Formats: sequence, structure tokens, C-alpha cells
Amino acid sequence: TPPPPPARKPRITARDGFEVDHQEDWGLPPVFTTVPTDRKVVFLTIDDGAEKDPRFLAMMRDLNVPYTAFLSNYLVKDDYAYFRRMRDYGNTLDNHTLHHPYLPGLSYEEQRDEICGMQDIMKKQFGRAPTVMRPPYGNYNQDTLVAAKSCGIKYAPIWNEEVFVDHWEYREDDQRLRRGDIVLTHFRGRDDWNGTMVDDMRRFLNKVTREGYAVARLEDYL
Ligand SMILES: [Zn+2]
Repeated sequence: TPPPPPARKPRITARDGFEVDHQEDWGLPPVFTTVPTDRKVVFLTIDDGAEKDPRFLAMMRDLNVPYTAFLSNYLVKDDYAYFRRMRDYGNTLDNHTLHHPYLPGLSYEEQRDEICGMQDIMKKQFGRAPTVMRPPYGNYNQDTLVAAKSCGIKYAPIWNEEVFVDHWEYREDDQRLRRGDIVLTHFRGRDDWNGTMVDDMRRFLNKVTREGYAVARLEDYL
């Protein structure tokens, strides 16, 4: 069961070194990897949407583990219903662009089409335009954040750890989980990995619970 929301939401700013020019002046969505909190929690985020494993949906529902899905339209459009089920189980669906491009390689207008276009599709398919976007590959420039803001995005979380079916990868040199860390994994299965989403989640949950962390709901802190 996820812990209750914090009494007060933390103030989230861009991670040091992850700001763009005029970040604060223009009130651009912050890019961050860790939510400032004293609570011993981490956040699970799952990207893209290629693999649609019903056993994964059932497992997370039965264990009551919250997660946030960052969806890219070209991977989810063949089965929006799968992600509606995910939403109906209480999970949040957020924006990961229409086609998963390397955004800094695109013009401002092209970036805006990728982000706002996905907002429109999510509103139509899932009933809500997100306020949270993750740039593909964690790559962005000033245009990305200006465009995202113009599409209604308020936060651009990336991640501090990534879990795969057979290992973890860390942004920090000490290779340790921290309070408030955002953990990334992907909707992938046996086509890409030597295992399933269920195996991937077991690896995630084993480490997190062994180290005494709870899995909290990201949007409770935003
Ligand atoms: Zn992605």
C-alpha cells in the first residue's frame, strides 16, 4: 500500500546542472531526478508503452504498488484500452511525446507539435491532458521546456536510477538509492529482455523493500 500523501508538497526546482537559460525567470518546468523529501520513499516511472502485459497490470494492482506511465503515442496507439485499465487501477498516465524523437534535434515548432500533439491525444483517449512530461532519453533544450510549458506541462521529471530485468543502473557514483529518487523502467518484455515485466518488477521491488523504501505516488508530491 502506498504511503499517504505528504501534508505539504515539496518545492521542486531544476536539479543543479539541469537548468536551461532563464529557467526561473520564465517559470519553465523543472527537470529533476529526485523529489526533495525526508520520507523514505522512491517513485516508480515506466516509459514508452511497447509491451502490454496483462500479468503486469494484475501484479501491480494486487500488490497495490503505484507507478506513473510516460507514454509515447506511436507505441500505445494500437491498444489505448490497456492503458485505460492502468489508469482505472489508479495509476497516472503522462506525456512522453508522439513519436519519441531526440527533441533537441527538432525546431521549436516541431517540438511543440510532439508535446502538444500528445497532450491532445491523451485528453481524447484518457480523459485528461497531463501536467507532467518526460523528454525522450532525458534530452531537452530550452525550446523543449518553453514548448512544454505552452502545452500545459508543469514538471519534467527524469530519473536517478534505471532498473532492467537483470540489473540496475545509477546516475550517482555511489550507486545508492536516495530518499525521493525517481526510478525509471520500460514497458518491455521478452522481445527486448531476457524476462518479462513481472520479472522486472520483482527486481525493482526486491531491492526497494530490502532497503526499507516505500513506493509512493509521484503526483502526490507535485
Ligand atoms: Zn522513452
